[in-house]
Amino acid sequence: MNALRPLRTPAELVEAGLVAPDELAGIERVAERYAVAVSPAMAALIDRSDPNDPIARQFVPDAAELTTTPEERADPIGDLAHSPVEGIVHRYPDRVLLKAVHVCPVYCRFCFRREMVGPQGLGTLSTEAMDKAFAYIAAHPQIWEVILTGGDPLVLSPRRLAEIMQRLSAIDHVKIVRFHTRVPVVEPERVDEALIAALKASGKTAYVALHANHPRELTPEARAACARLVDSGIVMISQSVLLKGVNDDPDTLAALMRAFVETRIKPYYLHHPDLAPGTSHFRLSIEEGRALVASLRGRISGLCQPTYILDIPGGHGKAVIGPDALRDNGSGCMVTDFRGGEHAYPPSE
Ligand code: SF4
Repeated sequence: MNALRPLRTPAELVEAGLVAPDELAGIERVAERYAVAVSPAMAALIDRSDPNDPIARQFVPDAAELTTTPEERADPIGDLAHSPVEGIVHRYPDRVLLKAVHVCPVYCRFCFRREMVGPQGLGTLSTEAMDKAFAYIAAHPQIWEVILTGGDPLVLSPRRLAEIMQRLSAIDHVKIVRFHTRVPVVEPERVDEALIAALKASGKTAYVALHANHPRELTPEARAACARLVDSGIVMISQSVLLKGVNDDPDTLAALMRAFVETRIKPYYLHHPDLAPGTSHFRLSIEEGRALVASLRGRISGLCQPTYILDIPGGHGKAVIGPDALRDNGSGCMVTDFRGGEHAYPPSE
């Protein structure tokens, strides 16, 4: 086995000590349905002595994925309902997703696009589809921001990324280019000078939204990769998914948000898990999520506070789901402080 390439088959996972031999048959059934890849950096980070390791839980397939519940759906956030041309999702007026590639360096077991990514997924946009996607962006002057997602856009070669960026540079109304990626964490060695130059090749303001869910993912190598990005002038923000068994306790969540801020990454979104097929073992209730997010208030710096978000199923977009500090008591407002105490506003005296 080559430790420098991702583990992609159940047999490789068994050989690496990440799956018990007697679980192989169940995992093979999962792998027939959903893509599998564990990058070398993530395989090395997994504590094989911990049956509940939060890194393993994110990347190593589990037979629980074979259970699909009635509320789950193949396209949980409704990308397809807002896709005017292949590769583009235009859900909000001033921004579009550009999904150039449906390949990832790892395949997250809770992925909301798990029916679209991977070797049996939607692949990479053809030259013709790419031409149509750019024509769409150019024809819509309200598009201020282009968000490259997928898949993970940073799996593209620097040459390919630079080509995309050069095409965006020619569209004057696009001012911001954002990349959603897991690469700085799961393949930090990929973040080199050539990649960074490619990300900046549009001349637009570049943002990188890093997807990470557990503080252990912010290894020294990952932090160094992020430092290279930030030092180059790229702004970094975070996105995380609230996941049962990974980060659903106040200490882990606080440590994750602090790790981002220490790495010069502003916590941005904490997503409630989507209704992706075979992911019910990751989901917690919205009430549980709100209590966890409330626990961060006061406990950690304001710099560390993410916005708790639900993607409304069906493609209706994101909604902030609290927790709320304000309630109307009929004659005025009551504001809750970080200890849970309520205060009238304005005060009665
Ligand atoms: S990196 Fe993103 S798109 Fe790829 S499997 Fe993970 S969550 Fe899904």
